[in-house]
Amino acid sequence: MATPRAAAAVAAARPSTPRRRARARAGDGRHLDATADAVRAAGVAARRAAPRTGRAEDGEEDARGRRAVYVETYGCQMNVNDSEVMMAVLEGAGYDETKEVNDADVILINTCAIRDKAEAKIWQRLAYFRSLGNGKKRSEKPVVGVLGCMAERIKEKLLEADRLADIVAGPDAYRDLPNLIDAVVGNPGGKAMNVQLSVEETYADIIPVREAGSHSAFVTIMRGCDNACAFCIVPYTRGRERSRDLASIMYEIRLLSEQGVKEVTLLGQNVNSYAGEPASATTTDFLSSLRGESKDPIAELASASTERLASASGSAFVGYADGFASRYDPERKRAGTIQFAELLDKVASVDPEMRIRFTSPHPKDFPDDVLRVIRDRPNVSKCLHMPAQSGSSATLERMARGYTRESYFALIDRVKAMIPGCAITTDIISGFCGETEDDHEDTVSLMSAIGYEQAFMFAYSEREGTAGQRHQIDDVPEDVKQRRLQEVIDAFRARAAEKQQMEIGSTHCVLVEGPSKKNSDEWTGKTDTSKWVVFEKNDAIGKYAGDEDAPTSGSYGVKPGDYVAVRVTGCSTGTLFGQVLGKTSLVEFQNLHGAQWTTPKSSNGASAR
Ligand code: SAM
Ligand code: SF4
Repeated sequence: MATPRAAAAVAAARPSTPRRRARARAGDGRHLDATADAVRAAGVAARRAAPRTGRAEDGEEDARGRRAVYVETYGCQMNVNDSEVMMAVLEGAGYDETKEVNDADVILINTCAIRDKAEAKIWQRLAYFRSLGNGKKRSEKPVVGVLGCMAERIKEKLLEADRLADIVAGPDAYRDLPNLIDAVVGNPGGKAMNVQLSVEETYADIIPVREAGSHSAFVTIMRGCDNACAFCIVPYTRGRERSRDLASIMYEIRLLSEQGVKEVTLLGQNVNSYAGEPASATTTDFLSSLRGESKDPIAELASASTERLASASGSAFVGYADGFASRYDPERKRAGTIQFAELLDKVASVDPEMRIRFTSPHPKDFPDDVLRVIRDRPNVSKCLHMPAQSGSSATLERMARGYTRESYFALIDRVKAMIPGCAITTDIISGFCGETEDDHEDTVSLMSAIGYEQAFMFAYSEREGTAGQRHQIDDVPEDVKQRRLQEVIDAFRARAAEKQQMEIGSTHCVLVEGPSKKNSDEWTGKTDTSKWVVFEKNDAIGKYAGDEDAPTSGSYGVKPGDYVAVRVTGCSTGTLFGQVLGKTSLVEFQNLHGAQWTTPKSSNGASAR
């Protein structure tokens, strides 16, 4: 049985618009590769006779009904958003999402290839999905598709290895999914694959199908990566850097604001390398079609998205943060484009009550004009992800990161000087090729000196085809990698515990997310600095007026999606505990607290090295 997943409200109200466009594109077969072509003819023939074909054509449901698709997503937030895009394409082609794998006609697994461990899990799941067809007639076995980065990396081997998958689709092939599925359904033994990477696909005209009622949303603004860090598979699985045009992003942000979404995270593999044009022909066409079809506020949103941006023009490349470089020529790619500072400013201006975050950035793309927008816009989160990867200049050089330990420290100092109280998070890799004990100690000392609020720390996992694998030797033994990783984690935790303690007594503007999993009498929410806070439910609060010593009383109830002022009264390693003081808004809280959105007891001095 298919469980309908609530689409974005507007998309649901006028289901045909973005989805019909997606289907029209999906049908042109431009990107189909030889494997898919080979099976398509057989697939189409078999489909005519197949008993359970239910693909919708031109908005009309087939008499035999819609198909149920089960989607499982691994990896980063971009994969989560990609699955939402994929669902928009599939809903328009006659599929509904089911949360129950046993009910699925089609099982899709959206994968990650960043480390070997991520892939090991996918192989296990594939074996399980295949076993669901055991004992069933061929025509009743679910079709299994592998999508995303691992699909792009392994390609046809996924179709061959134990025949665990029927479909393989890379991250730029989601418009083609209905074709790929059709080529396989009713065609026992059929296989279909599209792993063509694109230099222009941004899915700009597809409105993702999001979970109903959520107050947070992901919006992908760019895809791919041109950096080629020596350890990283992303440029090979996600292709070249390309940015979605400003008009389509603004349209989606306005739509989310209309729907009451309170937190948007802008996404990209290198999100702050954004370099887009004001409005692409595809978007102008898409928005015009909305204007023509609708008589509701969406028509206005569509107009605003192109007309107000008609005057937007690109600017010269302002440069990287001091001391940062890249191997490619940014002037060539970015001159005359809308760059990240401008995009962030425009996105933040849409709704002052919508908190804006972004991930995953590269530290090189934090020049002062980006930091100024973050500082000056109250609704841009004061929590910056600054992936260091290593604290050793020698290791950073081998990783081809384009900066040194010193320039990284200088950037952190700059952030702390320009944005007092800004939380900083990071990614670290332990045991990269050639890493010595001294290099490792440099990373440990970086963790201690900076005091990150959050860190994602990994042992190096060699990826086939990367510069690290081709030109360097993975010479740090596994047990040494693990020992070093643990030491890095310990150094992070020691400072993180101190920082948690220093939060006690501070007051945060918290976006309420939902009931606590451990205790339904408590709410959980997130601070501007991305920390989880748990506080007791209190349904009789008043408006917060800046008094941090006593909770207000009144008749406001608290519900998910509200902003409340919470004073921190205790903490564990990963969670703050607090008392709700009153209802507030992002703007009101900023007016009361000024640039100091919390009252931390910590100093924001320069980092000791
Ligand atoms: N674009 C971001 C940057 O420039 O730092 C990083 C995004 S990357 C997709 C996510 C994180 O995965 C990286 O920051 C890195 O720490 C980790 N990672 C990537 N390749 C890895 C590998 N081969 N082994 C271990 N960790 C890896
Ligand atoms: Fe990977 Fe980030 Fe480097 Fe790109 S910039 S290659 S995504 S680590």
